[in-house]
Order: sequence, then structure tokens, then C-alpha cells
Amino acid sequence: MNVLVEALANLCSLRDREALDFTLVALLQKFIAEPAQTISLMRLVGEAGDQRWQTQALLRAGDTTPTRDRVWVNFDTLPRVQDYRDRQMCVLEGEIQKVAGTSCFTLFPVTSSSRVDGVLEVESQAPLSSSTQALFTSVLNIYRNVQGLLDYGEKDSLTELLNRKTFDGAFITATLHETKNLELAQPDRRLAHVGGYWLAVLDIDHFKRVNDSFGHLIGDEVLVLLARLMRSSFRFNDQLYRFGGEEFVVLMRCSNAADALTALERFRTRVEEHDFPQAGCITVSIGCAPLLPDDTPGAGFDRADKAVYYAKGHGRNQVCSHPELVAKGELAAEAAESQQIDFF
Ligand code: GH3
Ligand code: MG
Ligand code: MG
Repeated sequence: MNVLVEALANLCSLRDREALDFTLVALLQKFIAEPAQTISLMRLVGEAGDQRWQTQALLRAGDTTPTRDRVWVNFDTLPRVQDYRDRQMCVLEGEIQKVAGTSCFTLFPVTSSSRVDGVLEVESQAPLSSSTQALFTSVLNIYRNVQGLLDYGEKDSLTELLNRKTFDGAFITATLHETKNLELAQPDRRLAHVGGYWLAVLDIDHFKRVNDSFGHLIGDEVLVLLARLMRSSFRFNDQLYRFGGEEFVVLMRCSNAADALTALERFRTRVEEHDFPQAGCITVSIGCAPLLPDDTPGAGFDRADKAVYYAKGHGRNQVCSHPELVAKGELAAEAAESQQIDFF
């Protein structure tokens, strides 16, 4: 009992989502009489019509540390929702599913933000006892509550995008995490890899007019709808932020400038073509910049912000790239030293 209470206390103390997922599967593994062959935590990602399974934590018998799909995994390589019917059923019905074969599979629905969007799958030699199933369900409820607390601190309550407070930490995790892994494997490729991240600042054009003409509630609705367009337009693992007011930020991984600009231009067009209730046509100005080696979050943001400022002054409703503006002599290049900081 003490071991369980301690394990739960540890779970509740975690403030890092990856650590939380890993601790969850490791904790559950301990409470099965006969160790499971695998315990995996999977979440549905992508938009309705093309959803995929992303593995958040996978622990095989004998493994000491769980593994997971990479943060920037290519969406097309993930298995489709319909490739795993039992998991799909578990999400649709929100109930435990049991599948017996050469081994037994028990699937538990995983809830976040009030909807089932994941599955915890346990593969074991023997079926899980009903008391083990009840324990797992209770631990998953605690896990959901901890996730809710993390969401509360990290997400903007209006749009449910990440908030500005989260940006620095997530930026460093998303870029350095993989950079460090790559550095170990291929030290010479580090710079090219860092160059694969782009930061974009998106600012709604003349938003004040929306509030002035239609009121704050309609203004808020525009912000919510714009966030929804962002979710459906950018890739599932691009990081989407509301920085405050009508300013949004996207951190994406693109292999080249053309890909980044195409994604941003596609979003700009979608917004322009969208018919917002009452407000009608809304447009956005976008500034973007690639991240440079050893960039701080602030330095990357500043370059993208300068580009969006330029877009505002030159007609709005357009995507401006910082390096292109520098190449054209429209913006000054910055001194490299001002963008550097020691992390370690
Ligand atoms: P520009 O094209 O130059 O960006 O013009 P703008 O009107 O969008 O920019 P400005 O910075 O002058 O005004 C931003 C407005 O956004 C002012 C403020 O009332 C509104 N705003 C900020 N936060 C919120 C919010 O949470 N809800 C609503 N409805 N409006 C907000
Ligand atoms: Mg604006
Ligand atoms: Mg603004």
C-alpha cells in the first residue's frame, strides 16, 4: 500500500508531460502480478478523417526505461486509427476492451480535456484481474487530473493553445532535445538540424475594428476560430501558441525555407477565405525566421517579430520572411553575438 501511495505521490508531483507518461506506464507495470509483456500509452493525433496513433510511452517486459515516438515524428509514418480497431472501439465507447489471443490485451480509455483521446494498452499472459483493472482505472483518473493541472498552467483558457509562459521551456525542449540526440549520433549534422526549425509570429489585421464594430464576444469568437484554423492547418506536432491579445506563434520543423513559407502561406490563405460569423473576412500578417544555432527563444522571436512588423507596414495580409527581407536590404542583419546564450 505504501509503495502505491508513494508512486502516486511521485506521479502527482511531475510537471513534465513526458516524465508523467513514462512514470505512469512504469508505475502500472509494477502493479501487475505477472509483469506485462508491454504497456503502451497511445494518443490520437491529427484531424477528424485522418487520425493516427502516436505512442506517448511504451514499456516492454525487461526494459528499464520506456520509449516514445519522437516529438517531430512524421505524421504519415504513424499508424492510422482504423488499423487498430480495438483501440478505436475503446476510444469510441470510452470503455475497457478485452481481447484474447495468444496473449491477452486489455485496453483502457484515456481521457484528457473531458474527451477520450487515447488508450492505455496492456499486453499480458493472463487476463488482468478485476481488482487490477479497477486499480488501473483509478490511476488513470489521477493521471487525467494531473494533466488537467498542467493544461491549466500551460494553456490559454480561451483558445486552448499553449500560452506564452510555456514558450521558453517548450522551445528549448523541442529544439535542444533532438539536437542533443543528433549531436551524439552525427556531430557534424548539428547545425543543419537546428536550421530545420522555423518560428512564425501571426498577428490579426485590424482586430481592434472587429471589437469596435461587433463587440468583445464576437472578437473572442474570432480568436477561437482562428486557433481552430491553426490546428487544422499546421501539422499535429507543430507547436501553436497564443502569445496574448491577437498575436499567435508557431514553432515548426521544416526541412527548408520553401516548406515553411508554403505552410504559412497556406494558413494565411485559409484565414482570408474563411467566412467568420458576423466578422466576415479576417486577415493575418505573418513574419517568420529560421532558428539559428544556439538561438535563444527571445532572439528567434525577435527576428520573426521584425518580419511581421514589416508586413504590417507594407500592406498586411502577407507572409514575410526575415532572411528574405535581410537579403533584399529591407531589414538589417543582426550581430550574431546578440543571439547567443550559454545553456549549460
Ligand atoms: P494591426 O493590424 O496593426 O495589428 O491592428 P490591430 O487592431 O489588430 O492591433 P492593435 O494592437 O491596435 O489592437 C489589438 C486589439 O486586440 C486591441 C484589443 O482590444 C484586442 N484584444 C486583445 N486581446 C483581446 C481578447 O482577448 N479578446 C478580444 N476580443 N480582443 C482582444
Ligand atoms: Mg493586430
Ligand atoms: Mg498585435
